[in-house]
Amino acid sequence: MATALSMTMNKSALKDQNVSTPYETALLQFDRAVSHLDLSSSIAEYMRYPRREFTVNFPVRRDDGTMEMFTGYRVHHSTVLGPSKGGIRYSLHVDIDEVRALAMWMTWKCALMGLPYGGAKGGVIVDPKTLSIGELERLTRRYASELIPLISPQSDVPAPDMGTTPQIMAWIMDTYSMTVGYSVPAVVTGKPIEIGGSEGRNTATGHGVVICMVEALKRHGITDAAGISVVVQGFGNVGSHAASYAHELGFKVVGVSDVSGGIYNANGLDIQAVRAYYAETGGLKDFARADNVTNEELLVLPCDVLIPAAMESQLNRINADNVKAKFIVEGANGPTTPAADDIFHDKGIMVIPDILANAGGVTVSYFEWVQDLQAFFWDQDEISRQLRRLMIKAYDFTAHTAEEYDINMRTAAQVAAIKRVATALQTRGFYP
Ligand code: NAD
Repeated sequence: MATALSMTMNKSALKDQNVSTPYETALLQFDRAVSHLDLSSSIAEYMRYPRREFTVNFPVRRDDGTMEMFTGYRVHHSTVLGPSKGGIRYSLHVDIDEVRALAMWMTWKCALMGLPYGGAKGGVIVDPKTLSIGELERLTRRYASELIPLISPQSDVPAPDMGTTPQIMAWIMDTYSMTVGYSVPAVVTGKPIEIGGSEGRNTATGHGVVICMVEALKRHGITDAAGISVVVQGFGNVGSHAASYAHELGFKVVGVSDVSGGIYNANGLDIQAVRAYYAETGGLKDFARADNVTNEELLVLPCDVLIPAAMESQLNRINADNVKAKFIVEGANGPTTPAADDIFHDKGIMVIPDILANAGGVTVSYFEWVQDLQAFFWDQDEISRQLRRLMIKAYDFTAHTAEEYDINMRTAAQVAAIKRVATALQTRGFYP
């Protein structure tokens, strides 16, 4: 495969090419959804704004004794339906607008799933791969201690996102618990099982993505997995587990990628072997029995289903016309810009939107929070059964809304979610 397009679609490259930023995307999606609803302008205006935003600059001691300043954020978009819920991202691309967008999407995602939560998101501008384990722990604990006025099981419950892990959640839980003087597992989700994590949380987002993919195909009369080719962008928590589930169900996963590029085999990849290779080498490049491809090439490979599971704005006005997939199932948050959405709509490509397709993660996070609060834990079968039940229910709800309003699944998911939040807001009334 050609390697001329070696640059990955990172944020600054996209900005230079006039691609919508995540926050522009989130607001435009919101405005599109609201245009189908008969909402009072004050309710719509209220929901368009984040409730509160927190920025913190804090020091971290490096292993060589020097001190470095870092910047972190936490945004609560909404607390109308309950405590705010949302991940924490460690990435050099984090900025306040990205966190605002991700927090807003969390509000709609939780509402669509019927979870008793509002939406939040946090982030620190850092490449975690450049820190030693000790530096990562010190950065996490200091950021967590700065968040203490904002987080608690009743007010705001963080979780992992891009660049953060169960271990990082464990340090946040421990920092919070040491401050209040007793163990509070329910303050974060996505923790290791030994300290109150849930069975199935680590794989939940990828699992939910595949449940939605199967459901979308089934509703289009497609039930033979072996005849369906799947491409996955991003080989982290979401992408690698989505690829594994799809492979286990007999789908032909023909392409996968991470930030440094991907691999392609038209006859299908052995995902377990790819995972082993990734664990051993830290990358996908030069995997035997596959061609190397760039991320740009990967997104336009011939396939039936494309699962973007890396980051925002990857499918945009520059490449949407060349996408060959018939279904796009969004593992990442905000991977498709509104311009690309319009192109996909015109081309008849079905998009299963992020707030539905990747909601498996927050759903099992909800189960984890409930289990922690009750100190009573469920087994894997119960988690899988409840996850499937809620995912299919939300899929149905979205599909019915799409039919009722004659709109696509993206706008339908937003319409359904915004209606729920608006109704709750109206019922609660404006304080004071
Ligand atoms: P992760 O850090 O585990 O993995 C991210 C993957 O994307 C890595 O393989 C990385 O190499 C790749 N990547 C990063 N930048 C890229 C780029 N410019 N081009 C191509 N690949 C790139 O993160 P994750 O938790 O898997 O999250 C991935 C996406 O899914 C994010 O949008 C996140 O917000 C969303 N999401 C995550 C969860 C969750 O439970 N972790 C839940 C819902 C949504």
